[in-house]
Amino acid sequence: MANDEQAYDVVVLGAGVSGLYQLKRSLDLDARVLALEADTDLGGTWYRNRYPGARFDSESYTYGYSFSKELLDEWRWTERFSPQPETLRYLNFVADKFDLRPHIRFNARVLEMRWNEADARWAIRLQSGEEIATRFVVTCIGVLSKPTLPTFEGMDDFKGDAFHTYWWPSEPVPLEGRRVGVIGAGATAIQVISEIADKVGSLTVFQRRPNWSTPLHNAPIANEEMAAIRARYDEIFARCSESPGGFEHTPDRRGFWTLSKDERTAFWNHLYEQPGFALLNANFVEIFMDEEANKEMSAFVAGKIRQRVKNPRTAEKLIPKDHGFGMQRLPLETNYFEAFNRENVRLVDISETPITRVTLDGIETSEDHFDLDLIVYATGFDAVTGGFDQIDIHGTDGVRLGDKWRDGPSTYLGVMTHGFPNLLMIAGPQSVSGSSNFPRAIETGVDWVTRLLTQALDRKLTRLEARETAERGWCDTVRRTQHRMLLQNGKGWFTGYNSNVAGHEAGKPRYVAYWGGGPKYAAQLRDAEASGYSEIDMA
Ligand code: NAP
Repeated sequence: MANDEQAYDVVVLGAGVSGLYQLKRSLDLDARVLALEADTDLGGTWYRNRYPGARFDSESYTYGYSFSKELLDEWRWTERFSPQPETLRYLNFVADKFDLRPHIRFNARVLEMRWNEADARWAIRLQSGEEIATRFVVTCIGVLSKPTLPTFEGMDDFKGDAFHTYWWPSEPVPLEGRRVGVIGAGATAIQVISEIADKVGSLTVFQRRPNWSTPLHNAPIANEEMAAIRARYDEIFARCSESPGGFEHTPDRRGFWTLSKDERTAFWNHLYEQPGFALLNANFVEIFMDEEANKEMSAFVAGKIRQRVKNPRTAEKLIPKDHGFGMQRLPLETNYFEAFNRENVRLVDISETPITRVTLDGIETSEDHFDLDLIVYATGFDAVTGGFDQIDIHGTDGVRLGDKWRDGPSTYLGVMTHGFPNLLMIAGPQSVSGSSNFPRAIETGVDWVTRLLTQALDRKLTRLEARETAERGWCDTVRRTQHRMLLQNGKGWFTGYNSNVAGHEAGKPRYVAYWGGGPKYAAQLRDAEASGYSEIDMA
């Protein structure tokens, strides 16, 4: 058992986008603070996802932190949608500017956390065997930090290179002249395919289910434009805080059915030419709730795909038939559909001809064999709860978090969970973070958690626990938000599906996220605080 001098007040788990900000805010408190990062360096998602084509699909200037005017004035984004290397440089710039690095322990993977009721502290055990004691733990472990691989026979025997996009090596991977296979058709696969199609010898895309995807419209940011952005930052962040998705794009409230079909089509043609998530977030809200409205919207986007893909058979395979537009996380693309017009690119529909095994030389389907030099697994993540499952967390009376959340997570505001005192979550399940412009949502979460920590430290409180009744109430609220949405029928990570995770393949969602949007979520947090944290037992 650690004595007072040895124990930390706050340990932050993770040094990615949310961990860095939580660390910065915690260091501003008069407290002993440490961040633990499992990886060899900081950056989280942006440290790991080095695959070709990895970049923001949020406008860069809406993705940066908003908390420091100085930082906003000093940092210059070079592209409307920043590529991964620039984003990683940005996060390092932030860490250096606020002198965060000395407070981060790298290669510090947490294996276990146990709540010790006697001294009201968490005991954190690292992979190295070391134990660290702390009063509070703030998890900043990301929502897409546990990659998942398929389990095809023979995967280990393949003689060429093969890796999940999350583990794309930092040293250059030769592409020229090579025969490359990409498995997957999510946001990651779409970025990789678009980027490498004209750089490889041949590209075979193994697609099980297509996703809807619309143009990103990236562009460089000129000096004058950056100056104009800087002058507009207050307005930009104000707009983001008013939009459900945390972007500058805000929903069109004219009413889908008040306009004629021609007027709607003209509006969508306009949005299709706008950057980023305009077509999703500046659209009519009815497309997310009204099946007829969604059908018409989906037909519009399908028409665009048919226009862009020359081979009609291929075009049909790239158009989702099992879910409507916006029912799964929308990937944004740059010449993705045009890639399939190239001679060296082939689409294999593995829903018709499934992969039977990976061989020494490539991939075998029920119909064919594809000789490959490189296999790219763009097969997604055990999202949101996956990061928690990697840590053996024991709360009061030794109850395991994994057991409590066996049938799906339950939380209070996505920030706390009953039975696990002093455990605070940024971008936790049932928060709004994963489904919106991430930094906008996590700043709200970090600020809220930091104010709660301030209270606890100032008042010398040693134990904070969300009430069970409060948790039940929040779970009901969260469920109600999803039941209004057509996306509850989608089969993507937004609704907790991943066919590579035991239990998911049966079609059972693992969690229900909060779909009320950023402003309503922020209001819920504000109300909880204004009530004097009446739903949290404090001692
Ligand atoms: P994903 O959206 O979950 O897509 C995984 C893909 O792999 C799906 O097409 C899936 O097919 C396929 N797949 C998985 N297991 C398979 C198997 N055993 N056999 C055949 N196919 C299999 O994952 P992701 O593309 O990595 O994207 C995850 C999230 O990361 C995105 O939704 C987004 O939130 C984020 N992301 C963001 C950016 C950005 O900001 N620009 C870029 C990339 C990713 P099924 O659909 O049939 O399951």
